Amino acid sequence: MEPLIDRARAFPQRAGDAGRELTNLAAGQAPQALFITCSDSRVVPSLITGADPGDLFELRTAGNIVPAHHPDTTSGETATIEYAVEVLGVRDIVVCGHSHCGAVGAVVRGDDLSVVPAVDAWLRTADHQVLRSGDEAEVFDPTVAGPVQRHVLAQLARLRAYPGITRRLTEGRIRLHGWFYEIHTGLVLSHRPESGLFLPL
Ligand code: ZN
Repeated sequence: MEPLIDRARAFPQRAGDAGRELTNLAAGQAPQALFITCSDSRVVPSLITGADPGDLFELRTAGNIVPAHHPDTTSGETATIEYAVEVLGVRDIVVCGHSHCGAVGAVVRGDDLSVVPAVDAWLRTADHQVLRSGDEAEVFDPTVAGPVQRHVLAQLARLRAYPGITRRLTEGRIRLHGWFYEIHTGLVLSHRPESGLFLPL
Protein backbone atom coordinates (compact mmCIF):
# COMPACT_ATOMS: atom_id res chain seq x y z
CA MET A 1 0.00 0.00 0.00
CA GLU A 2 2.85 2.42 0.76
CA PRO A 3 3.84 2.85 -2.91
CA LEU A 4 0.24 3.74 -3.70
CA ILE A 5 0.16 6.35 -0.95
CA ASP A 6 3.44 7.82 -2.13
CA ARG A 7 2.20 8.11 -5.70
CA ALA A 8 -1.12 9.63 -4.56
CA ARG A 9 0.81 12.22 -2.56
CA ALA A 10 2.81 13.12 -5.66
CA PHE A 11 -0.17 13.11 -8.03
CA PRO A 12 -0.63 16.91 -8.30
CA GLN A 13 2.99 17.22 -9.34
CA ARG A 14 2.76 14.29 -11.75
CA ALA A 15 -0.42 15.64 -13.32
CA GLY A 16 1.20 19.03 -13.78
CA ASP A 17 4.29 17.47 -15.35
CA ALA A 18 2.02 15.59 -17.79
CA GLY A 19 0.33 18.85 -18.76
CA ARG A 20 -3.04 17.91 -17.25
CA GLU A 21 -5.18 20.95 -16.47
CA LEU A 22 -7.01 19.63 -13.41
CA THR A 23 -8.37 23.07 -12.50
CA ASN A 24 -10.72 22.95 -15.51
CA LEU A 25 -12.43 19.89 -14.01
CA ALA A 26 -13.98 22.04 -11.30
CA ALA A 27 -16.42 23.42 -13.88
CA GLY A 28 -18.19 20.07 -14.21
CA GLN A 29 -18.09 16.83 -16.11
CA ALA A 30 -19.21 15.74 -19.54
CA PRO A 31 -17.89 12.19 -19.83
CA GLN A 32 -17.65 10.55 -23.24
CA ALA A 33 -19.08 7.26 -21.99
CA LEU A 34 -20.48 5.26 -19.13
CA PHE A 35 -18.04 2.38 -18.70
CA ILE A 36 -19.44 -0.64 -16.86
CA THR A 37 -16.96 -3.32 -15.95
CA CYS A 38 -15.92 -5.78 -13.28
CA SER A 39 -14.31 -4.71 -10.01
CA ASP A 40 -11.32 -6.90 -10.89
CA SER A 41 -8.04 -5.06 -10.23
CA ARG A 42 -6.57 -6.28 -13.50
CA VAL A 43 -9.08 -4.30 -15.53
CA VAL A 44 -8.17 -0.60 -15.61
CA PRO A 45 -10.56 1.30 -17.89
CA SER A 46 -8.52 4.50 -18.11
CA LEU A 47 -5.37 2.54 -18.88
CA ILE A 48 -7.09 0.48 -21.59
CA THR A 49 -8.81 3.44 -23.25
CA GLY A 50 -6.25 6.13 -22.51
CA ALA A 51 -9.01 8.13 -20.83
CA ASP A 52 -8.18 11.36 -19.04
CA PRO A 53 -9.99 12.62 -15.93
CA GLY A 54 -13.53 13.52 -17.00
CA ASP A 55 -13.67 11.10 -19.94
CA LEU A 56 -15.24 8.03 -18.33
CA PHE A 57 -18.11 7.69 -15.88
CA GLU A 58 -17.51 4.29 -14.31
CA LEU A 59 -19.67 1.62 -12.75
CA ARG A 60 -17.80 -1.35 -11.38
CA THR A 61 -19.47 -4.38 -9.89
CA ALA A 62 -18.40 -7.93 -9.16
CA GLY A 63 -18.75 -9.68 -12.50
CA ASN A 64 -19.95 -6.47 -14.22
CA ILE A 65 -23.52 -7.47 -13.48
CA VAL A 66 -26.15 -4.86 -14.41
CA PRO A 67 -29.24 -5.22 -12.22
CA ALA A 68 -32.43 -5.92 -14.15
CA HIS A 69 -34.62 -2.82 -14.19
CA HIS A 70 -37.53 -2.86 -11.75
CA PRO A 71 -39.53 0.34 -11.29
CA ASP A 72 -40.03 -0.31 -7.58
CA THR A 73 -36.49 -1.12 -6.52
CA THR A 74 -33.32 0.89 -6.53
CA SER A 75 -29.64 0.28 -5.92
CA GLY A 76 -26.32 2.02 -6.23
CA GLU A 77 -25.94 0.47 -9.66
CA THR A 78 -29.28 1.66 -11.02
CA ALA A 79 -28.70 5.13 -9.56
CA THR A 80 -25.30 5.33 -11.26
CA ILE A 81 -26.77 4.31 -14.62
CA GLU A 82 -29.68 6.72 -14.26
CA TYR A 83 -27.40 9.63 -13.41
CA ALA A 84 -25.09 8.92 -16.33
CA VAL A 85 -27.96 8.75 -18.80
CA GLU A 86 -30.43 11.32 -17.51
CA VAL A 87 -28.15 13.97 -16.01
CA LEU A 88 -24.81 13.61 -17.76
CA GLY A 89 -26.42 12.59 -21.04
CA VAL A 90 -23.78 10.06 -22.01
CA ARG A 91 -24.06 9.06 -25.65
CA ASP A 92 -22.29 5.72 -25.28
CA ILE A 93 -22.38 2.90 -22.75
CA VAL A 94 -19.73 0.19 -22.72
CA VAL A 95 -20.19 -3.09 -20.87
CA CYS A 96 -16.73 -4.63 -20.66
CA GLY A 97 -16.33 -8.19 -19.45
CA HIS A 98 -12.91 -9.73 -19.10
CA SER A 99 -11.07 -13.01 -19.37
CA HIS A 100 -10.32 -15.04 -16.25
CA CYS A 101 -13.27 -13.39 -14.45
CA GLY A 102 -13.57 -14.93 -10.99
CA ALA A 103 -17.25 -14.05 -10.66
CA VAL A 104 -18.29 -15.56 -13.98
CA GLY A 105 -16.02 -18.56 -13.43
CA ALA A 106 -17.61 -19.25 -10.04
CA VAL A 107 -21.06 -19.42 -11.62
CA VAL A 108 -19.92 -21.54 -14.57
CA ARG A 109 -18.14 -24.01 -12.30
CA GLY A 110 -20.87 -23.96 -9.67
CA ASP A 111 -18.41 -23.07 -6.88
CA ASP A 112 -19.51 -23.28 -3.26
CA LEU A 113 -19.87 -19.64 -2.17
CA SER A 114 -21.34 -20.25 1.28
CA VAL A 115 -18.46 -18.40 2.99
CA VAL A 116 -19.22 -15.28 0.94
CA PRO A 117 -23.02 -15.05 1.16
CA ALA A 118 -23.18 -11.51 -0.22
CA VAL A 119 -21.17 -12.55 -3.27
CA ASP A 120 -23.38 -15.62 -3.63
CA ALA A 121 -26.54 -13.50 -3.49
CA TRP A 122 -25.14 -10.94 -5.93
CA LEU A 123 -24.07 -13.58 -8.47
CA ARG A 124 -27.54 -15.13 -8.26
CA THR A 125 -28.85 -11.92 -9.81
CA ALA A 126 -27.00 -12.85 -13.02
CA ASP A 127 -28.67 -15.08 -15.57
CA HIS A 128 -27.17 -18.49 -14.77
CA GLN A 129 -28.84 -20.09 -17.75
CA VAL A 130 -26.95 -17.75 -20.05
CA LEU A 131 -23.67 -18.37 -18.25
CA ARG A 132 -24.02 -22.15 -18.28
CA SER A 133 -25.46 -22.57 -21.76
CA GLY A 134 -22.12 -23.49 -23.35
CA ASP A 135 -20.55 -26.91 -23.74
CA GLU A 136 -18.81 -28.89 -21.00
CA ALA A 137 -15.36 -27.65 -22.06
CA GLU A 138 -16.22 -24.15 -20.86
CA VAL A 139 -16.14 -25.37 -17.27
CA PHE A 140 -12.44 -26.15 -17.70
CA ASP A 141 -11.51 -23.05 -19.72
CA PRO A 142 -9.66 -20.68 -17.35
CA THR A 143 -10.36 -17.70 -19.62
CA VAL A 144 -14.16 -18.25 -19.40
CA ALA A 145 -14.27 -16.29 -22.66
CA GLY A 146 -17.47 -17.85 -23.95
CA PRO A 147 -19.53 -17.41 -20.78
CA VAL A 148 -18.21 -13.87 -20.22
CA GLN A 149 -19.11 -12.81 -23.76
CA ARG A 150 -22.66 -14.19 -23.46
CA HIS A 151 -22.87 -12.53 -20.05
CA VAL A 152 -21.87 -9.15 -21.56
CA LEU A 153 -24.69 -9.43 -24.09
CA ALA A 154 -27.14 -10.28 -21.30
CA GLN A 155 -26.13 -7.09 -19.46
CA LEU A 156 -26.65 -5.04 -22.65
CA ALA A 157 -30.13 -6.56 -22.92
CA ARG A 158 -30.85 -5.47 -19.35
CA LEU A 159 -29.64 -1.95 -20.09
CA ARG A 160 -31.96 -1.72 -23.12
CA ALA A 161 -34.89 -2.27 -20.75
CA TYR A 162 -34.07 0.80 -18.62
CA PRO A 163 -36.77 3.26 -19.74
CA GLY A 164 -34.39 6.18 -20.29
CA ILE A 165 -32.12 3.99 -22.40
CA THR A 166 -35.00 2.39 -24.33
CA ARG A 167 -36.20 5.85 -25.28
CA ARG A 168 -32.78 7.13 -26.30
CA LEU A 169 -32.08 4.03 -28.39
CA THR A 170 -35.35 4.59 -30.26
CA GLU A 171 -34.34 8.19 -30.86
CA GLY A 172 -30.79 7.23 -31.88
CA ARG A 173 -29.32 9.26 -29.04
CA ILE A 174 -27.35 6.51 -27.31
CA ARG A 175 -25.22 3.57 -28.37
CA LEU A 176 -24.45 0.38 -26.45
CA HIS A 177 -21.15 -1.45 -26.83
CA GLY A 178 -20.22 -4.97 -25.70
CA TRP A 179 -16.51 -5.41 -25.05
CA PHE A 180 -14.36 -8.31 -23.90
CA TYR A 181 -10.93 -7.56 -22.48
CA GLU A 182 -8.18 -10.18 -22.38
CA ILE A 183 -6.23 -9.52 -19.21
CA HIS A 184 -3.28 -11.67 -20.35
CA THR A 185 -2.81 -9.97 -23.76
CA GLY A 186 -4.38 -6.52 -23.39
CA LEU A 187 -6.51 -7.21 -26.47
CA VAL A 188 -9.98 -5.66 -26.56
CA LEU A 189 -12.69 -7.39 -28.57
CA SER A 190 -16.03 -5.81 -29.37
CA HIS A 191 -19.32 -7.46 -30.17
CA ARG A 192 -20.35 -7.13 -33.81
CA PRO A 193 -24.14 -7.44 -34.02
CA GLU A 194 -23.98 -8.29 -37.74
CA SER A 195 -21.94 -11.48 -37.16
CA GLY A 196 -22.68 -12.06 -33.49
CA LEU A 197 -18.94 -12.39 -32.90
CA PHE A 198 -16.55 -10.61 -30.61
CA LEU A 199 -13.71 -9.34 -32.79
CA PRO A 200 -10.70 -7.06 -32.14
CA LEU A 201 -11.61 -3.38 -32.04
ZN1 ZN B 1 -14.38 -10.16 -13.18
